[in-house]
Amino acid sequence: MDRRGAEADDRRVSPDHRNEPAGLEHARAQDRADPLARFRDEFHIPRRVDGREEVYLCGHSLGLMPKRVETYVLEELAIWKRRGVRGHFEPPRPWMPYHELLTEPSASLVGAEAHEVAVMGSLTANLHLMMGSFYRPTAERHKVLIEDRAFPSDRYAVESQIRFHGLEPASSLLVARPRTGEICLRREDLAETIEREGDAIALVLLPGVQYYTGEVLDLDEITRLGHARGCVVGFDLAHAAGNLPLALHDSGCDFACWCSYKYLNGGPGAVGGLFVHERHARRTDLPRLAGWWGHDKTTRFEMGPEFRAIPGAEGWQQSNPPILSLAAVRAALEVFGEAGGMAPLREKSKRLTGFLESLLRRELPEHIEVLTPSEPARRGCQLSLRIKTTDGRGLYERITAAGITCDWREPDVMRVALVPLYNRFEDAHRFVEALKASF
Ligand SMILES: *Cc1c(COP(=O)(O)O)cnc(C)c1O
Repeated sequence: MDRRGAEADDRRVSPDHRNEPAGLEHARAQDRADPLARFRDEFHIPRRVDGREEVYLCGHSLGLMPKRVETYVLEELAIWKRRGVRGHFEPPRPWMPYHELLTEPSASLVGAEAHEVAVMGSLTANLHLMMGSFYRPTAERHKVLIEDRAFPSDRYAVESQIRFHGLEPASSLLVARPRTGEICLRREDLAETIEREGDAIALVLLPGVQYYTGEVLDLDEITRLGHARGCVVGFDLAHAAGNLPLALHDSGCDFACWCSYKYLNGGPGAVGGLFVHERHARRTDLPRLAGWWGHDKTTRFEMGPEFRAIPGAEGWQQSNPPILSLAAVRAALEVFGEAGGMAPLREKSKRLTGFLESLLRRELPEHIEVLTPSEPARRGCQLSLRIKTTDGRGLYERITAAGITCDWREPDVMRVALVPLYNRFEDAHRFVEALKASF
């Protein structure tokens, strides 16, 4: 809708809203002018006990449920109910190759070729699988570079891999830290670490978006620097997939893993995703923790003893996948396709996040410090807010009672995400009003 259309709409606002603060009218006008606004209706928005819709700002943790998920999952349940094992082979969507329906939509979201992507497994397990093939420590080159605030599961996975090779995290884990008094990583410091330690680093394993601060790392640059020093480079894209446009193939990283239940809206514990760059597609020298679903499709059911990997990411599959979860993820990915993919979503996301940040700076400059970088290129949907009060937990509970869903990290950080598929400018406004009323 053009500006004039939006203004005309303004005059039609019902009299009930006349007394509300001007900021709310401004937010609503932006929602009316938003070409993606209709996608909110594709989702179930949780409701409070009084029946009003919540302000849901937790898409960084669990994305909301696309309405069509129910249909897609029920369809597969009905097939199981009526056909039993024949569901594996019969049209319209036989389960045997069902995961292939998700490959192209996933690949387009992360900027990969289809054969570089497999929708499979779960995030931590996939990280282990990737390290099984790509973390090959030698006496000289044995370190794994992670960051100080790495998500605990990633750190546990990396430390256990190091021990698995008979090494010690004390000497083989290299941790990149923000400077004293700072919370985000500086790209020049990361570059310096890779430059300085490069010869000893076997694997660089960093996030696309840092889960605690919302900081976006430069995947192209990290890959370039790591490769220049002979390191393998992998990424955890848990908070990047469905949040930012990605170009994994062009960035050239060796592998990446993500989950589907955060910005991808695939449902609790949904099947994850895996990227392996095509330069590794046909390598036979890599060790691999194999399973039958990674075996050549044409001979898989001959049930022979000798493993022959499918070229590409699918060759790392182990088990036949959970169809009910794949059905949910398939429905969720379809919504991204209909919205036009990551480019328009990212445009809206920048505006939403910028709007929220400006409201916070204007309305609560004394009470809130935004920890996430201000430059739009260095952040995605999430803002991490330091709440400056002695009673942060109490404040979090008060805004939760007021119908705001976000999350709280001790001692003083609130993480909120405005997700362009289902959040509105009005949500940003309501959140800030609730905060103001809760200090
Ligand atoms: C959400 C998240 C996880 C969760 O791992 P699961 O194996 O899916 O339980 C791991 N790492 C990061 C960085 C995350 O953000």
